[in-house]
Order: sequence, then structure tokens, then C-alpha cells
Amino acid sequence: MKLIRFGEEGREEPGVLLDDGRMIDASSEFLDYDEAFFAMGGLDSIREWIGDGCLGGLEIPKGTRIGPPVDRPSKIVCVGQNYMEHAREMGGEIPTEPVLFMKASSAWSGPQDDVVMPRGARQLDYEVELAVVIGKAASYVSEKDALSHVAGYSVFCDFSERAFQKERGGQWTKGKSADTFAPMGPCLVTADEIDDPQELRLWTKVNGETRQSSWTKDMLFTVPEIISYISRFMTLLPGDVIATGTPSGVAMGMNPPRFLEPGDLVECGVAHLGELTHRVVASR
Ligand code: ZN
Repeated sequence: MKLIRFGEEGREEPGVLLDDGRMIDASSEFLDYDEAFFAMGGLDSIREWIGDGCLGGLEIPKGTRIGPPVDRPSKIVCVGQNYMEHAREMGGEIPTEPVLFMKASSAWSGPQDDVVMPRGARQLDYEVELAVVIGKAASYVSEKDALSHVAGYSVFCDFSERAFQKERGGQWTKGKSADTFAPMGPCLVTADEIDDPQELRLWTKVNGETRQSSWTKDMLFTVPEIISYISRFMTLLPGDVIATGTPSGVAMGMNPPRFLEPGDLVECGVAHLGELTHRVVASR
């Protein structure tokens, strides 16, 4: 199944993207794709509803804004330096345990929304990532059981302001959390449709030029390892998002760096999951 949300920012309604390409409004039957939805067996219910022909569901008009495919999560946990070539291009050590950091959930954004440069930004960068959405609360889960806690997968761009991240002291949070810095979409592809999350191609293009091109099999720590690891330090709740790290090719890793500027078009994709499209705009 492919779940989508549509409508105005912050007031999105749930819908589904069918195999024939039609987008169907599911708001007559479901409130939202949020923590309660996943915790209360919502995925089973909507599977039944689709099987019954989406009774009562109207087609969503073309041109409607598509929002992030799940409600703003309780947390966005990110894995840093999870691809060896990226760790190298950033001048870091190769990590021996997953590097974790958090991104403010207020950075949550839709798959075609503008990315807004924060005031004073000089070094805006992109990071395509495979996003994992949790379906069942995960606390001290084993690697063997980890994937049973996954609702599905989506495309994520971990937008970053490198000067805020690296030159302003302390942790990376300041460079990772501006509004619009956490877009996800275009849909949530349920876990049953993805045979192996380590066999997905992922890429970024800037103004049509390929900047990142890699495979999720190059992750230093796999999705089950990451989920199990994070769950030893915090409880992952239904609807929470894990951004699993980015491959090499980010703007900061180039010589000289080629940071994003207003007007640039950033496209991030993961095979089988779809693409994000973001126009960079100056600070508001
Ligand atoms: Zn990242």
C-alpha cells in the first residue's frame, strides 16, 4: 500500500495512492496517519478498506498539495555518517557504533514544499536518505525482531546548514532543525512492498545534475541494526521516523563546496518509494 496525505500545510487529510495511479481520499473512514492510527491497527483496517474498493472515497483532484505521508512524528532520529564514503568526505572517523542525532519535528515538511533558507544561512546542503516509519512501539528490540516494528518506508531529505552545524559550537541540532528541513514523501510505502531495505538505489539531483548516487546496501549499519540500537536508548513510538543516513556527494564534500542557493531545484529519490522535489527559497 501507498499512503499519502493531502491538503493545506498542517491540516492534511489521509488518502491512498492506488496501483493505477489514482489518489483516493480516505478521510471519510480514517482520521489521520498518526501515532494512534498505527498503534490501533490502522494499517490492517485501511488494507481492508482498499480491498473493499475504497467505499465512500472520492478521487483527490490533480494539483492538490501533497503533504508528508504521516502526521508530524514525536521524534525524528537521524543516523550520521552511516555510509563510509560520506564519513570520509566530511573528514570524520569511520564510526564503530551508529552516530545518532535528533532533528526538531517542527522541521516536518511535504514532498514538494519549498525549502526555506534560515536567516543568516550560507551553507545549505542536501542529504537524501531512506526513511523508516515505525509501526509498533520499539523498546529493547532485537535485530531479528526489528523489521516487525516497521510500518513502511519513505524518501527523506536531511537538509542541513553546515555553518550552523559545525561552526556554532555544541551538537549538530542547530544546523538540522530549521523549518522545512525535514521533508518526507511522496508516500509511505508499507513494509510488505519492500523485499529488502538494503537493496534500494538512492540519488539526489541539483538543477538536473546528479550529486548523490548510491545504494542502501552501502550503509555501515543496516536498518535492523539501527532500530535495535536506537531502541536501547529510547522508545520508538508508532509514527516516529528514522533517517538512516546519507551517501557521499553532499555539497560540503565537494572541492570547492557547492552549497545550495535560492532558486535551485533539489530532487531526491529512492527506488520504489518515489521522489522529493524542492525549490530553495531565501529566508522569509
Ligand atoms: Zn543525514
